[in-house]
Amino acid sequence: MLCPHCGFNNHDGVINCLQCGLPVARKIFRPDRFSGIGRRAFAFVIDMIILMIPVLPIGIALGIVDNIWFFLLILFGAYLIYGMILEMTPLQGTLGKRLLGMRVVSSLNGKTLSFKYSFLRNITKLISILALFTGVLVAIFSDDKRCYHDIFGKDYVLPKDSNTKET
Ligand SMILES: [Zn+2]
Repeated sequence: MLCPHCGFNNHDGVINCLQCGLPVARKIFRPDRFSGIGRRAFAFVIDMIILMIPVLPIGIALGIVDNIWFFLLILFGAYLIYGMILEMTPLQGTLGKRLLGMRVVSSLNGKTLSFKYSFLRNITKLISILALFTGVLVAIFSDDKRCYHDIFGKDYVLPKDSNTKET
């Protein structure tokens, strides 16, 4: 976040400029509640079941279900595209997340994710998972329950009754 007083490029979330000490942001967005990874994992399972409805018949038609790992890769790829699209719409989340009362918002302002951050969030899910799920499990130990891909995507996953006002 660029300081309006001296132009220094501070990292996000900084309240006072690290160079000149003057305030860089009048408002900060800090939700009061966050969604835990148990509920998020359950939403993932729901989304995978929903995606199987179109992907499985296509996979059978193309003869790729015989190779289960290749099929799962295709299914996961479909999940990333589906997530990227839905998380930047007013739905603010996949159908699984919506069913479980969760939404994904920008950690910068509490609003819907932009294309850039929805893309970054979903592409870095691969890293979170390929790193033996450490990128997901790290959420257990962070007070705002963020996975690696939430940090890259500059997002929070929130329960629908979480306060999203800027203070
Ligand atoms: Zn400054």
